[in-house]
Amino acid sequence: MAFERYALILRSVRYGDDDRVVTFFSLEEGLLTGFARGANATGNRFGSALSPLTFSALLGRHHTPDSLFRLHKANVIDPFSGIRNDYDKLLWAGLPVRAILSLLPPHVQEPALFELFLHYLCLLDKERERHALLWIRFSARMLRVLGFGPLAPVCHGCGLDILLGKVRFDPESGRVRCRDCSRMDGEKSREPVCQADILRILERFSGEDLQGSERVVLSDHQEGHLLELVDQLISWHVHHWTFSQTLPFLGKAPLSVKIGRNEHLSML
Ligand SMILES: [Zn+2]
Repeated sequence: MAFERYALILRSVRYGDDDRVVTFFSLEEGLLTGFARGANATGNRFGSALSPLTFSALLGRHHTPDSLFRLHKANVIDPFSGIRNDYDKLLWAGLPVRAILSLLPPHVQEPALFELFLHYLCLLDKERERHALLWIRFSARMLRVLGFGPLAPVCHGCGLDILLGKVRFDPESGRVRCRDCSRMDGEKSREPVCQADILRILERFSGEDLQGSERVVLSDHQEGHLLELVDQLISWHVHHWTFSQTLPFLGKAPLSVKIGRNEHLSML
């Protein structure tokens, strides 16, 4: 019997003349790869429901528990046209796709991450600006959901709540150490360094939904450091992670809303 699954299509590769191999993130079973016979014909509704970055209802089944998933039918729930028609948004949408494909093992149900990714695409589809902030919030939540922190800048060694200056952190456990404890332990050069106030913002975002409880305005400086920190944290777990600021378009788009010379993060 075939079961319906709600899925976000991540990757779709042509196979032969008529068929497709599709990787999708489903609410019910996490990451799956499926085979879609006949999905390649032009003007085919089945095929368009299997395009990358589409939210679709899929009908199909495994013939045996370990076999490739066979896709029989697919209907579009949301094609996210606002993302599809905007190169800049496409790049911002590509970042979580790459992160999810790299971080999630197949067949592991992650409903919280599924809902987070769906919410991210819905907001990106509609919003004209603040895409960098959305990505930073998404990454913070994603890392929290997957158990990779980030933790507040409180020293694991002496308990000091570090307000300013640099801290070393272990991306595996999220633990932070102050400068004195780092020196006493003998500094581990592989452990990344970041600004305590930037880590505090990211830790706060990790506990909020993508829209947060109040409007946040980041300075270009804060936003740049947050993007860098997110890249550092993800690249610790994902080999060959391409840092977001090296991608085309992203660096050139206006990334934050300026509210004047005293631009600041309103929540702090
Ligand atoms: Zn300490």
